[in-house]
Amino acid sequence: MTLQEMINESNRIVFFGGAGVSTESGIPDFRSEDGLYRQKYDVPPEVMLSADYFFSHTENFYRFYREKMLPLEAQPNAAHKKLAELEEKGKLLAVVTQNIDGLHQKAGSKNVFELHGSVYRNHCRRCGKFFSAEQIAKSTGVPRCECGGIVKPDVVLYGEPLDGDTIDGAIRAISHADMLIVAGTSLTVYPAAGFVQCFEGKYLVLINRDPTPLDSRCDLVLHGKVGEILSQIQV
Ligand code: NAD
Repeated sequence: MTLQEMINESNRIVFFGGAGVSTESGIPDFRSEDGLYRQKYDVPPEVMLSADYFFSHTENFYRFYREKMLPLEAQPNAAHKKLAELEEKGKLLAVVTQNIDGLHQKAGSKNVFELHGSVYRNHCRRCGKFFSAEQIAKSTGVPRCECGGIVKPDVVLYGEPLDGDTIDGAIRAISHADMLIVAGTSLTVYPAAGFVQCFEGKYLVLINRDPTPLDSRCDLVLHGKVGEILSQIQV
């Protein structure tokens, strides 16, 4: 059966994605050849993006974060757009994403569970005041609130727990789905990667450039670029 035929037959599709969904928008993922883990930094990205590092080396954290994690000019690609179209046509229940780049919402998706938060939300740790991503991008050194508190992005850093309501919503959506499309993720970051185990529907599809631990369990595996593959789907 083809991806198109599976999508035609399904009405409660859930999409579960990772950094590979945004590489066609020019945002590097973590583990590919040109991913952030292969680039040269004195400190590995998973250390720089940890809660410990944020609190102990806040200025260095922000130097890396502004340079690599705030691609505010990036635009949605064909994958983000097709998913928004599927939702608008009533075929897609939700997008569950590990990404923090906000590109699904930029493309028009409404029901998005951001497991790892978003660069578009930032709050003062002392008084809770909201700061936009643009304010963070324009800031220098450690961004601070007028009250003197340090501003922290609402992104889940390594060592921090996921938000409970977001977990509940994502698991509810996945367990109600009749089709789950998993794409652009190495499925190595837990607990997020474990959420796909809650799927009990009919078609489990994987679209990824490289093999993943889920390949052998899927009804359909497409090794390729998610934007190119989804752009061919007729809604
Ligand atoms: P990962 O880097 O571990 O894996 C990405 C996977 O996507 C790889 O298996 C790769 O083969 C595949 N891939 C890359 N480009 C692709 C494409 N065009 N089409 C299909 N597959 C493609 O990413 P992960 O599993 O999401 O885990 C990394 C963690 O870092 C996550 O928490 C993620 O949210 C975060 N992160 C987010 C962003 C972002 O917000 N855009 C960017 C980098 C990392």
